[in-house]
Amino acid sequence: MGVRARRYCAAGIALLLATTVVSPPAEAQRRYGGGEQDPQPQKATLAIVGGMLIDGHEGRPVPHSLILIDGSRIVAVGTRDTLKVPPGTRVLDASGMTVMPGLIDVHVHMDTLGHTDYQHWHQTYRSRLQEIYDVASRQLLTYGVTTAVDLGGYTPEIQNFKKRIAAGQVVAPRLKFAMGFISNYADSFIPTWHRGYQTVNVHTVDDARAAALKWIEAGADVLKAYDGLTGDQVTVIAEEARKKGLWVTGHVSNPENAIARVQAGQDAIEHTGGLSYGSTVPPELIRVLLQRRTIIVPTMLISTVQLDAVDWPEFWTDNQRATSTTPPDIWADIRASLEHPERVLTNLGGFVRRDSVERSRAIFKQLREAGIPMLIGTDSSTPLNLKTDAVWREMEQFVLNGVPPMEVIGLATRRNAEYIKMGPDLGTVTRGKFADIIIVDGNPLANIRDLRNVVAVVKDGKIYREPTVSPTATSNAATVAKNPR
Ligand SMILES: [Zn+2]
Repeated sequence: MGVRARRYCAAGIALLLATTVVSPPAEAQRRYGGGEQDPQPQKATLAIVGGMLIDGHEGRPVPHSLILIDGSRIVAVGTRDTLKVPPGTRVLDASGMTVMPGLIDVHVHMDTLGHTDYQHWHQTYRSRLQEIYDVASRQLLTYGVTTAVDLGGYTPEIQNFKKRIAAGQVVAPRLKFAMGFISNYADSFIPTWHRGYQTVNVHTVDDARAAALKWIEAGADVLKAYDGLTGDQVTVIAEEARKKGLWVTGHVSNPENAIARVQAGQDAIEHTGGLSYGSTVPPELIRVLLQRRTIIVPTMLISTVQLDAVDWPEFWTDNQRATSTTPPDIWADIRASLEHPERVLTNLGGFVRRDSVERSRAIFKQLREAGIPMLIGTDSSTPLNLKTDAVWREMEQFVLNGVPPMEVIGLATRRNAEYIKMGPDLGTVTRGKFADIIIVDGNPLANIRDLRNVVAVVKDGKIYREPTVSPTATSNAATVAKNPR
């Protein structure tokens, strides 16, 4: 970061503090994670000390924070003035950096890594899914996503993967799974669809109920109502989901289908494409969405990453976050597919069109103005949508479309946790919750892209990544000290 950028950040913080000197009581209560100051624990296993804390409640940040963790849970949140680090506690120094809850991505696919040819990918890697899941897990966790929802996959392999996680054989974020899709396509399409082997394709209400029960039986946390389903079919899927406390999300084909599905009990809609015939969501659909408090996961980044790749292909082909976390042979294959990102725009049967960015922005604006809740999900890894970069890119899209950074952070943490029914345990840095915390080198309130710079990741109180002091930085500092001017 250049000197000018640093000054800009400093000015941003000063302005923020100046405008929040008089804090309303509710906001003050949130400062230390829920009202009174947390009592001093006698014992802790981990302390995160000195960073500016953005705790997920969207109140003002806490300078010089101190977070104490014992085992998997947060036991106290305060500042260097209100808490002490108990003797023998391991310390992570977050001074000068930002501390915040681990990010939650409510729409990922663990079986893809950004390769631009889906057919080739699924044919080649179906037999290597465990390895792909491991890579996806490492990428999510290393870059700050401590919880993710996998929307559709191959059940036997996911069950095997869950066993490996439970046995401690894999380093993975906290994951929730749809286990497979429920679709209503022409049967002849299924063998040609790259994910045909992951779906139960239904045509009747009875089929739809049987499909829902199949995925619930297999261990689903959420049901994915995919393309083609009617309102009646979604009604029985939602009925079965409710009985087990699950939620239902999925696609919609067009505004009429959206109204039918929402009224049938679909809790959330992935992507904005089916909400309108042009760039305007019909008022009747807006009314139903508001009435049912339906969640929209707009996945704004999908089109923009593909367009950005045309302008800056090296960001993808030479992406150090991706190369350092992917086995060389798999990366070579993905990289080759990235060589001509402009082809992706036409290769995917209209999957992305240049005008779709403008269209999704217009829809986003309309939904936001109407007060429809929208959350952070990335659909990583659609083509070029690398897991190492997806979540900050989607958060950036929200900021670019007018949502304040503090609110966007609240969406990717607290609000996403509530949506996936984990609000009491996740989503804020609060005493009693799981210790899922990241440290970011930078200030995402001043520049949301600073979320690229995740330097430490703690999940369940365990450190998965920690800050390193670069020898180069030290020698530079020494050089500057010796040659002051
Ligand atoms: Zn998806």
